[in-house]
This record gives sequence, C-alpha cells and structure tokens, in this order.
Amino acid sequence: MSNYQAGLEFAVIQDQNDPLATFREQFHIPKDKDGKPLIYLTGNSLGLQPKSTKHYINQELEDWANLGVDGHTHAKNPWLPYHEFLTETMAEIVGAKPIEVVVMNTLTANLHFMMASFYKPTKTRYKILIEADAFPSDKYAVESQLRHHGFDDKEGLILWKAPEGQELLNYEDLDSILKTQGHEIALILLGGINYYTGQFLDLKRITNVGHQHGCIVGFDCAHGAGNVKLNLHDSGADFAVWCTYKYLNSGPGSLAGCFVHERHAYNKKLNRFTGWWSHNKQTRFNMRHEFDVLPGAEGWQLSNPPILSMAAIKASLDIFKAAGMEALTEKSKKLTGYFEFLLEQLNNKNIKIITPKNPEERGCQLSIQVKNANKALFDKLTQAGVISDWREPDVIRCAPVPLYNSFQDVYYMVEKLKALLND
Ligand SMILES: *Cc1c(COP(=O)(O)O)cnc(C)c1O
Repeated sequence: MSNYQAGLEFAVIQDQNDPLATFREQFHIPKDKDGKPLIYLTGNSLGLQPKSTKHYINQELEDWANLGVDGHTHAKNPWLPYHEFLTETMAEIVGAKPIEVVVMNTLTANLHFMMASFYKPTKTRYKILIEADAFPSDKYAVESQLRHHGFDDKEGLILWKAPEGQELLNYEDLDSILKTQGHEIALILLGGINYYTGQFLDLKRITNVGHQHGCIVGFDCAHGAGNVKLNLHDSGADFAVWCTYKYLNSGPGSLAGCFVHERHAYNKKLNRFTGWWSHNKQTRFNMRHEFDVLPGAEGWQLSNPPILSMAAIKASLDIFKAAGMEALTEKSKKLTGYFEFLLEQLNNKNIKIITPKNPEERGCQLSIQVKNANKALFDKLTQAGVISDWREPDVIRCAPVPLYNSFQDVYYMVEKLKALLND
C-alpha cells in the first residue's frame, strides 16, 4: 500500500475501516497521570494485558480452591493436559505442526535444552555461528555451552557481522563464512528477527545453506512469534524457541514456546535432558516404569507446568485465534508502512530508520537511529506520552502492534516527534 496520506483524517478513516479495530478494546491500555491512554509502542518488549486474562486465571484459582488436587483431572480445563490446550493455536501462529510445538519453561532455558540435544560438538566441528549483535542472553547462553563442552568461548564463536558502516546483515556474507568455515560450525543460532534493527531474516534460506554445510540450524524467534509469519515447519529449521510476553501478550516472564522439527519427532535416540513430563502420558503415574519418551516437542518437557501462567497464555492465544495471523500481518504491514511514510515525511537529518524497507524483511518494529545518540529525544518522547524504548548505542525502537495499536496512535506519535525535533 503506497497511497498513504499525511494529516489526521487519513488515520481516522483507516481506523474506521480497520476490521481488527475492536480488538483494541479487549486490552488494558496504560494511562498517563491524567487518565489519558498512552501511546504504547513497546509490545515488542512487554505486550499489553488482555482484559480476559484475569478471568482465565481466576478460573484456575477457583478450581484450585474448590477442587484441590482433583483439579488435575476435574478442573474446567484439567491441569494434566493443560499445555495441550495451547498447542494448536501456538502451532498456527508460528507456522508449525502441532507435534512440533510445546509451551514450557522460559526462553533462555529452552535454548539450553535445545542445545543439549542439538549442539553436538566434535573436536573438528564445534563452533557456533550467531549474529554479531545477538540478544545478550542468547550470546551468554551459547558461550556457556562452548565452555560446558570444554571449548574456548571466543575461539568457538563465529560472528555474522553487518558490512562496515551498515546495520543490516547480508546473505552473501553468510554464504562466504559458511564456504570457508562451514565445516567447523556445529550450530547456527540466529534471532529470527533481530531485536535491535528489526530485520526479519530469511529462515528458509539460512536453514538450507546451513544444512548444505552440515550445520544444525536453530532460531530464537522472541521478536517473531505473533509478529510475522515464521513458517517454521517450511523453513526446515531443526529447532526454534520464543517467549510469550512480547507480541504474545501473556504476561511478564510467562512461559516460552519451543519448536522441534517433525523430522526429529520420533527419534528416541536423540539425547536430551528429561523429566517425568517428557515421559509417556499413559504410564507417567505408574512411577516405576523405564523412561519412555513422548514423540515430538512434548518429549522435551521436564516438569508439570505452572497453570496460572498457562492460563494467561490461553487468554492471549484465544484472541490471536479470533483475529488470525493472516489479518494481523496484513494490518501490521499497513500500519508500519504508514509509520514509515510519516517518518519519511519529516525529512529530518537527525533521525534515520535502520529497519529494512522491504515489508517482507521486517515485522511491525521500526528502529529509529538518532544522530549523536541523542537520548534526550527519547526521554522527551516518553514525557510526551509515547512509550517506546531506547537501545544502546543510539536507537529508539517503536513497535505498533496490529492487535491494539491504531493508525491514530502512529499519527500522534509522529506529530509529537516532529514537535520535539523542531524544538
Ligand atoms: C526477549 C529476548 C530474550 C529474553 O530471554 P528470557 O529467557 O525470556 O529472559 C532472549 N533472547 C531474545 C532474542 C529476546 O528477544
């Protein structure tokens, strides 16, 4: 869509014609001290709370109060299979088959459990390739895996860097790293969408070239899940992990998602760290059985999960199911395209969008680089009621999310920015 127009009227009309507009009312929008809704553009950091979440959690609190241990089997949503209620919608959101997906643990924990199975270093092939500006937790996790296996965490790490003076990764550089060092690389682990630039990588292309060189390929999709169509199954990736508290609106520190490709689903020999929740459901409570691993991603679970946190995820996933990823991504492209259009209209040399221009290479986030790392601009924006975030060294990240952000949110954000830039 390229027929964007400046002026408030355009935004108002877009909101009126938006088939997803009513979803905004299903969320609590944080307010300023005068009770006016803030312009919340940090759904990429902590998604807003659906109004229904409280009821979903209350249901479990009530069943726990009334039923005690019996809730495992007799709660309205029985706790024993509770994670199964999340699987289908979660699988749809990330473009996977249900057998490939499970909700469990937290993101970085899942990353380690995946590496326990999929990072199998040998003396000659032990290196891990990550993007130069990987999210710190991912970097720390892979460094500790290298050390855990007795390797040097500097020598073992290969960085895919953006070309000198540029922000975005390019695939020719990846190809040439793999051509020269592919035989030493055991694992490629990349952010599906980079948290800083908002660049959405081509998961399939990376997986193909990684596999051609004999590497295992995994993705951290924390910034992708609920934001873009990841098509994890078709990508062919060996595994992926993501959290549910960003675009998936499931509450601070909520449980995470995990994907293991179908081709590994029935491989009982694939080593892993296990617990009673990875064991055959039929005999789990017989207690004295030999370990018998569940097929698919479920076979990586360890513990009986925190139901209160899962209830929050269920509340959110039911909203995603009602809205549909197709409609959400369609609105998202319009909304972010509009945001980009308005920012470009400012024609101001003090800011620059570093996120890719191609809508297929980004999600909803735009990263605005500020000249001379002028953080004061971000602070003033916050004072003006725009909630975005500052990422060192010099970027303001803004994520208009299609579920609860409006075209008017975007319009007023840019108006406020304009006033501050002209100050
Ligand atoms: C948000 C985020 C994390 C956070 O990890 P937690 O284990 O949930 O604290 C890790 N990696 C990436 C890429 C992220 O975007």
